[in-house]
Amino acid sequence: MIKSQSRPLLFLYIIFAYVIAFSLWWAYLLYCKNELSFKEMIELKSLSYQTNSANKNKSYFLSDDYLSIQNKYERQKKMIMSEGVFFIGILMVGFIFVRRSFKKELTLANRQKNFLLSITHELKSPLASIKLVMQTLLKRNLPEESKTKFVNNSLFDIERLESLVDNILIATKFENDNYGFIKEEVDISYMLHLLKNKYEMNNKKNIHFNFQIENDIYINADKTGLTSVFVNLIDNAIKYSEENTSINITLRKEDDKCKFIIEDEGAGIPNDEKEKIFDKFYRIGNEETRKAKGTGLGLYIVNNIIKYHEGTIELKNNTPQGTIFTIILNTIN
Ligand code: ATP
Ligand code: MG
Repeated sequence: MIKSQSRPLLFLYIIFAYVIAFSLWWAYLLYCKNELSFKEMIELKSLSYQTNSANKNKSYFLSDDYLSIQNKYERQKKMIMSEGVFFIGILMVGFIFVRRSFKKELTLANRQKNFLLSITHELKSPLASIKLVMQTLLKRNLPEESKTKFVNNSLFDIERLESLVDNILIATKFENDNYGFIKEEVDISYMLHLLKNKYEMNNKKNIHFNFQIENDIYINADKTGLTSVFVNLIDNAIKYSEENTSINITLRKEDDKCKFIIEDEGAGIPNDEKEKIFDKFYRIGNEETRKAKGTGLGLYIVNNIIKYHEGTIELKNNTPQGTIFTIILNTIN
């Protein structure tokens, strides 16, 4: 059965094959017509040539008249062939472009569909668990310790929802030329210390975090945008790592730049996926086999925000396994 996604492409192939066949047929007809009219003209001209008494015993096929008609015929033959080849060449180039943009649109539409499916799940599951916690707290008189645990879990779910909504809002900003970001002096070291506390307190996978943060590094940046960069990269490192593995996070100054390095021991990213993961909605694997949930917006946002700050982002394999992301930004001190 033909997949519904490839149906428009099949339609495009059929139209293209029809146009090619149609053009070849017309070129062939034109070619035959040219040949026929040449033969008929020669026949007519040779008859009237023979009836002229001045041409007795002379062959028409050696006359100037014949040679000029033959030249014209040859010229037209070449013209039909070269224009035919040129037309089909243009058609082919056009087809390649149309096919490429068609495929791009189809992939984007497919990713968008997956995005909608995953976002529904990403929104529903934390909401359902928050609702359950609220109902339990209302109905039952729980000990103080359990209450705190439940509330903390709900706060964690709310934070997940918050970062999801932030990602969607930031991603929509990129659609407009004016991102709406405001640059100000940011103490990036302090910002990372705050995140360090947050992640160490909510460490469900028992990750061994190793933060090495050099103090007092200032950059000119959009606070929300930059927080989103760190949150997305740390979230990814946790999400794509197994329990009890290590994540090293380093921030240091090098001349007038600062380097943020995050190293995990997770599944790693295959070489042929390394560029694609920065595309909007792109996620490695397919929806059926993927374990971790997500929208595919995280690295798209990271890449765009880093570009906006005139920084660079680099991606390498960790040894023996995992990924290392390095971000370089300009400092102001
Ligand atoms: P979300 O928008 O919720 O962040 P996501 O994590 O799937 O969803 P991205 O952060 O854009 O989306 O990442 C794109 C893909 O890159 C992921 O689906 C994952 O397959 C891969 N990836 C990203 N970071 C890592 C990592 N540290 N280790 C292994 N794979 C990763
Ligand atoms: Mg992510």
